[in-house]
Amino acid sequence: RAKSGGRNRYALFDPDMLAALVRRTALESALRKAVDEARITCHLQAQVGAAGRVVGAEVLARWHDEAFGTVPPGEFIPLAEACGLIETLGDQVLSLACDRLRAWENEPVLGRLPLSVNVSARQFEQEGFAARVLALAAGVEARLVIELTESVLIDEPQRVIECMQALAAHGVRFSLDDFGTGYSSLAYLKRLPLSELKIDQAFVRDIHRDGNGAAIARTVLALGESLGLAVLAEGVENAEEYHALAQAGCTLFQGYWFGRPEAPDAFEARVREAAAMPA
Ligand code: C2E
Ligand code: MG
Ligand code: MG
Ligand code: MG
Repeated sequence: RAKSGGRNRYALFDPDMLAALVRRTALESALRKAVDEARITCHLQAQVGAAGRVVGAEVLARWHDEAFGTVPPGEFIPLAEACGLIETLGDQVLSLACDRLRAWENEPVLGRLPLSVNVSARQFEQEGFAARVLALAAGVEARLVIELTESVLIDEPQRVIECMQALAAHGVRFSLDDFGTGYSSLAYLKRLPLSELKIDQAFVRDIHRDGNGAAIARTVLALGESLGLAVLAEGVENAEEYHALAQAGCTLFQGYWFGRPEAPDAFEARVREAAAMPA
């Protein structure tokens, strides 16, 4: 924002704007380096069914930089999308997830768990995306779930739908993330090969006290039921929210109440331990 008039008439940038630009430029080159060196890691967050049993996990990208510290994905994912790094970063996350799925293959409980990976619109729009996913997921397609948001449908819905169909034909499943916060038409729900809707945390927060949130959750659950889709509530932080959701008929949950995102080793240890306990 160039200032006009007053004493700063000749200043092109204000200091805050300049500082933000400098940070962004430095952050971008640090991210480029981290992606080049394949230093992006992943945490896993449990997805649970009735009785708190772990039925899967979401893969969440993590970046720790020496200078910037731990940068949240809410900051580095949009940056990666803006500066052309999301394709490579996204492939790295998919590859980490598929490696885990293969490593679990012969384990009693872990061997049955699907992993859900977030995929950006930019990734879907790439030439050859479906083929690359299939190459990365060879042998574990049936345990790979791709989370997408309604934003993937904004630019090239037909191309995205074809890509999804190609992957679905090989057993890859799709979950619509942050459901209810986008602005795509509900008509798309019928055209997409989805298997799950994720109720956004916005509708889960304080659901036990918020009549509107509860009404929306019940509506999404009913929608899922009539379309034959599983419905998972995300961002469940306490027992009150969990009970209100269960009361509304929800059977799949994810959130701090059931477990924070954690290093894959810790997640695996927890699942093995729970499996070893007598029911
Ligand atoms: P998302 O896919 O909706 O993931 C859920 C976010 O909610 C995660 O934030 C998770 O840590 C957080 N969360 C889980 N349970 C709770 C809870 O009980 N309370 C609260 N307040 N938050 C909870 P995170 O890890 O910071 O990721 C933020 C977003 O960044 C994700 O939202 C997703 O859109 C994006 N993202 C993360 N990893 C990737 C990736 O590998 N690729 C792409 N394209 N996007 C990613
Ligand atoms: Mg997600
Ligand atoms: Mg979400
Ligand atoms: Mg989100």
